[in-house]
Amino acid sequence: MKNLDYCARIEKDMVILSEGNVSKCCIDFEGLTSFGNVDKGSLSDIWNGAQRMGFIEKLKLHKRKKLYPCNICVI
Ligand code: SF4
Repeated sequence: MKNLDYCARIEKDMVILSEGNVSKCCIDFEGLTSFGNVDKGSLSDIWNGAQRMGFIEKLKLHKRKKLYPCNICVI
């Protein structure tokens, strides 16, 4: 897994932290980054939002090893 340039998990999972922030992935359990907050927007808007879509596009360009939290991922 560490050697893969892309990870499909980002397209399947939504991780919502206790304060409502939608983390990029469970690896970022401290919520250092987020796609939005469920108290401020709908799940649908966050799921389909520009931040999340932009992140996925960067991953698809094989930039996984340069993007947090994927660059520290041990899964
Ligand atoms: S943090 Fe790891 S499991 Fe999550 S999307 Fe990135 S590579 Fe995949």
